[in-house]
Amino acid sequence: HSLKRIQATDGQIGAFLTLDEEGAREEAAKLDRQLASGGERGLLFGLPSGLKDNMVTKGLRTTCGSKFLENYVPVHDATVVNKLRSAQSVTMGKLNMDEFAMGGSNENSAYHPVRNPWDPTRVPGGSSGGSAAAVAAGQLYFALGSDTGGSIRQPAAYCGVVGLKPTYGLVSRFGLVAFASSLDQIGPITKNVEDAAYVLQAIAGHDELDSTSANVEIPDYTAALTGNVRGLRIGVPKEYLGQGVDPQVKERVLESLRVFESLGAVWEEVSLPHTEYAVSAYYLLASSEASSNLARFDGVRYGVRAEDPANLMDLYRRSRSEGFGPEVKRRIMLGTYSLSSGYYDAYYKKAQQVRTLIKRDFDQVLEKYDLIIGPTAPTPAFQLGEQVDDPLTMYLNDILTIPVSLAGVPAVSIPCGFADGLPVGLQIIGKPFDETTVLRAAHAFE
Ligand code: GLN
Repeated sequence: HSLKRIQATDGQIGAFLTLDEEGAREEAAKLDRQLASGGERGLLFGLPSGLKDNMVTKGLRTTCGSKFLENYVPVHDATVVNKLRSAQSVTMGKLNMDEFAMGGSNENSAYHPVRNPWDPTRVPGGSSGGSAAAVAAGQLYFALGSDTGGSIRQPAAYCGVVGLKPTYGLVSRFGLVAFASSLDQIGPITKNVEDAAYVLQAIAGHDELDSTSANVEIPDYTAALTGNVRGLRIGVPKEYLGQGVDPQVKERVLESLRVFESLGAVWEEVSLPHTEYAVSAYYLLASSEASSNLARFDGVRYGVRAEDPANLMDLYRRSRSEGFGPEVKRRIMLGTYSLSSGYYDAYYKKAQQVRTLIKRDFDQVLEKYDLIIGPTAPTPAFQLGEQVDDPLTMYLNDILTIPVSLAGVPAVSIPCGFADGLPVGLQIIGKPFDETTVLRAAHAFE
């Protein structure tokens, strides 16, 4: 069913970079045999899934949406890939994304753009645009995405599906090609909240192969979906419904809050006063970390290697000039600049201090409230080509997801209605490692 659906729709949507039909058929046949010989069904038994193409897969090309890794075939599997296999999901292939996860529209893919299944003239969001579009188009039952500043939640919002960014450290990043290591987090993109709880159950947990992986008890996420949100306290940041937020998006959020009220939750206006500095701080920090992480792409170890280099410098320079696209180069330059001596204190260090203030904003509100609720993105999906030449406008799409990433707290985007026929996402933000409350509220609302 999944293969048929992919074949029928992906010419239009462009969600896949690598379809692994043979691997998927083999895996499915293996599961059939196991079941026939009396084996137990795993948590995600037989469910067709897909992986954003920055999660490494043994023997299966992993491009990161970049020409640099066009022919890169990893020698091992990411921890999440092993976990999905243990849960008996069948992986159908690798999904399109902005190059090295840098972008918010999937137009930075070095291969081809992804089209929004709701309106093919519009972007699916990014950088996990392929993951969100594939689930929205019914090609897959779920997909994994990665979120550094919004890349699970924003495409989920634009495509009308559920996208969960777990607490930093809950899901292992071993085998996730690093963009900004202090922010990157893997999470599920699904059709509904219950599915998100199942997938999170399968992929969460400590991993000694990831030094930032948290050693915490993993709760029963599906058992938390009780439908009961009576007495839950919700803070609604005034900064999230202010200037720049589309009036229809704002209206959908206010309607959603009334639904929570009718379910017995209470909400009040709160403030996250440093919100306006988040985008600037993020683009310095994320780019600084990226400039360091992407130093490994040197023409020697992975992917592209320039032909006939005159010397080592020439090999580096030409491999990187040929292999990376314009947005990646922009970030490497910005990050290298902000980390260089003489500028470090003024830019990188200052941005780190701002990050601390933003984290404190969240700590203070989450001391009094169980959840913070607002829109996921200020507008619905925009037109392909509309913002691609204007990086600063593009960066502002993440103004409501980036602060959450800087604070490291969990958040889900769930569909909450439409604006001019396009899906609108509601963002539900929780306390660190309190995914159960986030999912419980999202599920009760849904
Ligand atoms: N759009 C943001 C960026 O371009 C977020 C990316 C992400 O979360 N991977 O950096």
